[in-house]
Formats: sequence, structure tokens, C-alpha cells
Amino acid sequence: MDRKKSLPLGHIDLFCSPDLIFQIQNKWHLLRLDFLGERTNSFQDLEALTMVNWSMKNRNLPNLGKKFVVDVLKYNNGRWEHQKFTPSAELLEQSKQLLEKDVKQMNNLVDKMGHMRNLSIIPLSNNHNYCNKCAFRNSCPAKTGLAKAKIEQILAECNYFKDRVYSD
Ligand code: SF4
Repeated sequence: MDRKKSLPLGHIDLFCSPDLIFQIQNKWHLLRLDFLGERTNSFQDLEALTMVNWSMKNRNLPNLGKKFVVDVLKYNNGRWEHQKFTPSAELLEQSKQLLEKDVKQMNNLVDKMGHMRNLSIIPLSNNHNYCNKCAFRNSCPAKTGLAKAKIEQILAECNYFKDRVYSD
């Protein structure tokens, strides 16, 4: 499937088509190939189930959650890992809510960055333990230390607002 194909879910354009769909008996399997194999997180089932929400909006597929199974094939540290998720009405609703929250956070982020579009001021974690396990650490302002990055962010924001005040 084409990952650029979006389908509407409420006010969100959902870009999360499976890479492959196949049918075994009466179940439709939605397969995602993940070559970057992110480490396990506590929302992985809800993230994977967004494919079911996408598929239920696709007019060529059933619109019943129980007709689907989600398979994720992850490549991590030289090994393939197979994860399987079965949707329920409750999990599909939670998956939708997670998407809503993500979109809200992204909108907040865009509001915060304004025309600066400065990735150095992205909100940082509140706990350095998350940074130790984070797959994005090398490209994050916190790569050389969370406390230091937070101080640098505060200074950058102060300078930004100071410049705005003096330029008005
Ligand atoms: S390294 Fe950056 S992105 Fe990752 S958890 Fe820490 S602050 Fe967040």
C-alpha cells in the first residue's frame, strides 16, 4: 500500500496505511515492515492499531475491527521480531484518542515554535532516564545532557523574546 494515501478520521488526515494486506481465512492481516525497529514502548499496540482505524475507512476493506489482525515485522539489532496485535473496540478507541493527543501536541509545538521553526526548542523529556533509552537521542538537543539542554533552551527562548520586544 502507498503510505502517502491518507484517509479521514474525524478532523485528522490519517497517513498510516499498512505496507501489505493479506487475507487468511476470514481475517485480514495488516502488515507493517519496520526497518528502523524502534525499541518497544508502552503505546506500541495503540500505534499499530491505527492501521485498523485506517483500514476501516478504506471502502475496499471491511469496516469491522474484529475482521483484522495487525502484524508488525521489526528489524532491530540484526534480528527480525514479529509482533501481533488483535483489535478490540476499546483499544481502537484508545488508538484514536492517542492520535488526537499527538496531533494536539504537534499543533502546540508549531504554535510554540512560531516562525522560528527552530528544532532546538522542541519540548524535552522531564526524566533523563527516557533519554538513556531514546532512539532519537543523537539528533536531540539533549544528546550531551538533558539538564544542560534545558538551560540552553531557556536562554534561547529568553533571547528570542528579548529580540521581539526590542524590535516592536
Ligand atoms: S533524548 Fe531528546 S527526544 Fe529523547 S527522550 Fe530525551 S529529550 Fe526526549
